[in-house]
Amino acid sequence: MVALALAACVPLCVAQEVSQDPPRLAADRHTDAHIAEAIRQVSADRIRQTIEKLVSFQNRSTISAQDEESIKAGKGIGAAREWIKAEFERYSKDCGGCLEVRTDTFTEQPGERIPKPTEITNVYAVLRGSDPQQAGRIVLVTGHYDSRNSDNFNGTDPAPGANDDGSGTAVSLECARILSKAASNLKFPATIIFLTVAGEEQGLNGSKHFAAMAKQQGWKIEAVLNNDIVGGNLGPGQDASAVRVFSEGLPAAASEAEIKRIRMLGGESDSNSRELARYIADVGRSYDAGVKPLLIFRLDRFLRGGDHYSFNQQGFAAVRFTEFREDYNHQHQNVRSESGVEYGDLPKFVDFDYVGHVARLNAATLASLASAPAPPANVKMMTKNLKNDTSLAWEPSAGASAYEVVWRSTNAADWEYVQTISKGTRATLQVSKDNVIFAVRAVDAAGHRSLPVVPEPER
Ligand SMILES: [Zn+2]
Repeated sequence: MVALALAACVPLCVAQEVSQDPPRLAADRHTDAHIAEAIRQVSADRIRQTIEKLVSFQNRSTISAQDEESIKAGKGIGAAREWIKAEFERYSKDCGGCLEVRTDTFTEQPGERIPKPTEITNVYAVLRGSDPQQAGRIVLVTGHYDSRNSDNFNGTDPAPGANDDGSGTAVSLECARILSKAASNLKFPATIIFLTVAGEEQGLNGSKHFAAMAKQQGWKIEAVLNNDIVGGNLGPGQDASAVRVFSEGLPAAASEAEIKRIRMLGGESDSNSRELARYIADVGRSYDAGVKPLLIFRLDRFLRGGDHYSFNQQGFAAVRFTEFREDYNHQHQNVRSESGVEYGDLPKFVDFDYVGHVARLNAATLASLASAPAPPANVKMMTKNLKNDTSLAWEPSAGASAYEVVWRSTNAADWEYVQTISKGTRATLQVSKDNVIFAVRAVDAAGHRSLPVVPEPER
């Protein structure tokens, strides 16, 4: 028995031992020519049309009109909701009915920013995964279609919301348009959801309801990309080559016991959301989106929030995309001129090419994740005996043909090294677990990478 176990281990363990000079990760690219071709279909002009259409509804506040008459007149959030729904249905028609268009409607009870019981509707389209074994895995893109002006309780005067968040809504819609089209010749084993929510300005109401529903129904959401204020406001100090990607450090959903463990293991910068942010950095290196992700290791902008947090609270990996520099004269403002300064969130301040680039980065991320095998499950680090090398083990992933162990110094922001494990689901590396952080990801035959999973200690 002992001899057999040794015989099985020796070639495996030796083969999986890492060389002295492991490949540097920053040098590698994971480009899929079909995904590269699909994201080229993103149209800044379509995005402009979407944003201008959203602005035409005058005021999309969650407390604005949604009665039949207003919808017919094309005014208020009800009209915006119906238009988004029709738009998703149009994309679906163009791909032979490949999208399931759905709504999630509920009544929000009066609160600080909601004066009376208010119906809120999230609109979304589902591109079902092509592999029945993996269709339960979900990646999701979202933006909020509600808007506001200076007064949170004003549901009638112009609240154009071209940037906040017509831009994010347009990203979600454009991703739906081009990825549904691409799905006819490019198979996505996992499911992609294109979401637009309301109630963001009133207290993240729409996303809270949606995320809670997803959690309650046991949806396996692997990634949420929230786009909020990605219009690249045309003003001084803007950097059109960068988009900020915010990710939480300590997970909002972690229990006291989990926080204690994170503290003990030094896992403060390895939440599932942060691994997603690093994945987006990888996508940014692999595809020419026209904009580079700038990872910000913080839940959101200072003292501010957004819809990704609703998903974080339910334990889902979720990040926020926001333009490099915001212009506060052009958000949450009544449209007006004062002492020569123009206020208001108008389309003329939006850089449509920039929104297109952000949409490309989102679409490449969604397509990469939905094409990839499932992340490895039960990734363990053997810690029974004190050793200077590191042994890892994990369960096989559906769709994987190999695995990669990635690691980085504890003070490095992103993964630095990679070792391919072409056979089996174990590896021993001559690198001390004291000095680095490890993770394991699954790779398919075409080279699509899953999200990396940080190992749990196995005593
Ligand atoms: Zn917003």
